[in-house]
Amino acid sequence: MMIKQGMKATITIDSIAAGGDGVGRIDGMAVFVPNTCRGDEAEIVLNKVKSGCAYGTVTKILQPSSCRRADFCALSGACGGCDFAHMTYSEQLLVKHQIVQDALTRIGGFKDVSLSDTLPAPRPERYRNKMVFPFGRDEAGYVRGGFFAQNSHTLVPLDDCRQGDEAVSRYLFAVVEYLEETRTTLYDEKTGRGAARRLFVRLAEGTKEAMVVLVANTKKLKEPQVLIDKLLAVESDYEIKSIMLNIHTKPNNLVLGEQNKVLYGKDTISDVLCGLTFSIGAHSFYQINSPQTERLYNTALDMAELCGNETILDLYCGIGTISLFAAKRAKKVIGVEIVRQAIENAKENAAKNGIINTEFMLGSAESIAPKLAQTGLSPSVVVLDPPRKGAEASALDAIIKMNPEKVVYVSCNPATLARDAKYLCAHGYHLKKATPVDMFPNTSHVECCVLLCRTQQ
Ligand code: SAH
Repeated sequence: MMIKQGMKATITIDSIAAGGDGVGRIDGMAVFVPNTCRGDEAEIVLNKVKSGCAYGTVTKILQPSSCRRADFCALSGACGGCDFAHMTYSEQLLVKHQIVQDALTRIGGFKDVSLSDTLPAPRPERYRNKMVFPFGRDEAGYVRGGFFAQNSHTLVPLDDCRQGDEAVSRYLFAVVEYLEETRTTLYDEKTGRGAARRLFVRLAEGTKEAMVVLVANTKKLKEPQVLIDKLLAVESDYEIKSIMLNIHTKPNNLVLGEQNKVLYGKDTISDVLCGLTFSIGAHSFYQINSPQTERLYNTALDMAELCGNETILDLYCGIGTISLFAAKRAKKVIGVEIVRQAIENAKENAAKNGIINTEFMLGSAESIAPKLAQTGLSPSVVVLDPPRKGAEASALDAIIKMNPEKVVYVSCNPATLARDAKYLCAHGYHLKKATPVDMFPNTSHVECCVLLCRTQQ
């Protein structure tokens, strides 16, 4: 059969690929189909055909998989937010296990990995402590917040998202009312004109503090007191401790501009995580699923098997969460992080918690780790938790040079994790165990924690 673009076909989905698409075969050729489940039999139309694979979209589900659910969200499939919304939670966990397994085998070349079951999230919905909504207008011309549709910048308006706390939906409503009342213009990506760009909300689950940031293409909001009054009048379990204008005048896709202007309260909120208090600014990275973060960090530190006299290097340390948690069980922890505000938060957090055996260094892991290796630092454990693109080779080379007994690699991207683990294993390490951790229910994203041990020569 000639496989051509525009062609209709019937397909059975038999696996889910990294990135979340279902995969089935037509005449042996792999076809990627979003928003499907393993076991679905579907009628699809092919919208792209390449030399080794094709891409299709569902026109009709002929026989739904027993792993399907229809009740999670009415916007499932339209909104680009939750690409696993249509899958039962138990199936999501199995699929994530498979995605990690595939990456370790195919990219890392690992065989017989001791891969635990995916650690389920304590709360598989309303778990996100950070939400960002772009603004737009609905068909009737009213201001709305929402999410962008999959692979586009078309707004899918929403009143409430089941990934976030209800408080967030109420803040969104208050901000939309403010924008309407003050006739604040909306930012237009095409012309670069207009003010309101996005709403950014961060909640601290441990303290019930909230931060609300209006990201706008202006240095001065219209009638900011109206915004403050509306937000403070919102009834919820949270207390707003910070309202800010984030000034974002550049025509890029970054959520935040560089400068914050405090309109009410402070420029940080506090949270309690793993029994420690943390100050968090808008620009600092903070894990978005708090109860599951505690389990992730426990998994990582259990792998490190600390006995109290270790020196630990925590690369990509953010605001020092892992560093400070580990410091209670080690001799010394050195944290390295590239974002200035995060390092300032980390130092403040150490002081706030009375922890004196940590040191935080501002700079990239790839520039600082080689310098530390040069000075002869030899930590017994290196923890690294890089962004999606993984670690640079120079950071990995520095780790190899420092020759720690254990490397605990925490990653939100199984593909780069597998690549980097393979590199370490070609230089004196072996992969001891791995645990997928579900930090992002209802999406195809999966966190993973891996222990690599130095191979005795
Ligand atoms: N371990 C922390 C942060 C992990 S997220 C936590 O659990 O909260 C990854 C962090 O790496 C972010 O804070 C990001 O700012 C930082 N980062 C990104 N690129 C970096 C680089 N090249 N060198 C050091 N840190 C980097």
